[in-house]
Amino acid sequence: MNQIIIQKYGGSSVANTERIQHVTSHIIEQKKKGFSPVVVVSAMGDSTDHLIELAKSITPNPSSREMDMLLSTGEQISISLLAMAIESKGYKAISLTGYQCGIQTDPIYSKAKINEINTERIMAEINADKIVIVAGFQGINSNGDITTLGRGGSDTTAVALAVALNAELCEIYTDVKGIYTADPRVVKDAALMQSISYDEMLELAKLGAKVMHPRSVELARKNNMKLVVRSSFELDHHGTIIKEVKQMEKAQVRGVTLDDNIVRLTVSNVPDKPGIAYKMFSALAAQNVHIDMIIQNLNHDDLNDISFTIPKDELYNVKPTIDAFVQEVNASELLIRTDVAKLSIVGTGITSDATIASGLFGALYQLGINIEMISTSEIKISCIIDEKQANEALSEIHNFFQLNKVL
Ligand code: ADP
Ligand code: ASP
Ligand code: MG
Repeated sequence: MNQIIIQKYGGSSVANTERIQHVTSHIIEQKKKGFSPVVVVSAMGDSTDHLIELAKSITPNPSSREMDMLLSTGEQISISLLAMAIESKGYKAISLTGYQCGIQTDPIYSKAKINEINTERIMAEINADKIVIVAGFQGINSNGDITTLGRGGSDTTAVALAVALNAELCEIYTDVKGIYTADPRVVKDAALMQSISYDEMLELAKLGAKVMHPRSVELARKNNMKLVVRSSFELDHHGTIIKEVKQMEKAQVRGVTLDDNIVRLTVSNVPDKPGIAYKMFSALAAQNVHIDMIIQNLNHDDLNDISFTIPKDELYNVKPTIDAFVQEVNASELLIRTDVAKLSIVGTGITSDATIASGLFGALYQLGINIEMISTSEIKISCIIDEKQANEALSEIHNFFQLNKVL
């Protein structure tokens, strides 16, 4: 059998019929070279956003089951059009939904995780010499209901298929030439990287660089699947390889990133006694909330303030839980700040070099920016700052660490 390669095309790569024809030629080229391409596709352009707007115009809080049913339709449009385009060039192709290609997930709507992929159907289609086109971002739970994997989840479909099919390579085609030292749309002199380690890419993705879905990088790392991120618009560029990279002793900042999809919540004047934090965070954990950056400040009179951040789109579900906690423990109030952003620098071992943290804080001080929260790990330093200053800060920090010179 021919070697299987996975190619994933994001929304902008299939935004209109012209783009679909363009990627069709590239897919056929791989077929002519003797590969068996399995292609994962996202919904066309911004169509997922439009579907979300449509739902919100009906009700502000649609059920997650029906949202997944709705959003999964975006990918069904693009896979069928792409399969038609390939067939019209005289090649055999077939489009498959998540269900049809055996993508089994857990039951959590809107952020489902893939449990397993039954590859029988895909293998049968490959053996029948067809180019298989798979709907990204979706699967099926054990009740037979459609689930989606979370925004940007087609990357994870692609890597999961690459692992399940033992593919040679997993290529992620997008609208930039690869992974840059910062979002190239915000930082004009960001540098394209030739390669980046799984760990660093995972951290950049988790901290807001939406070029890759974090879970796709995690899955690739776990299975040592080589990933290439490249442009479907400029095919003469090789892109960036994401792989295991040997690290030298000297720690180095590799990239900077922003996440403005966060909210800072502060519960003020919480009694300072054992079990209080547990009570609040276990209630949040029961709702599968993605909590980040927890800080507790001791006030006076045995009272604390507890602050933490969550993704903006979780606020609606989380607020009643925290309101109930405020009542229950007799805290003063819940303060919500939506105008904050998280700025992060990423590089293996950077916290072992104190000059890196001091450089970051010094550069923010020079800009007159107040740091509201800080969190660190071996591979990143993150600061919560005012959203209005975030883009300026990103460019300045990029400049400070001379990332435009990095290859
Ligand atoms: P797709 O629709 O192909 O999945 P996305 O919009 O999800 O594309 O991701 C690509 C975008 O990610 C780019 O247009 C770019 O603005 C943004 N991005 C953010 N950080 C980075 C980075 N460090 N390197 C490359 N792109 C980045
Ligand atoms: N269409 C989905 C989204 O816009 C999934 C993806 O593009 O990866 O989030
Ligand atoms: Mg994406």
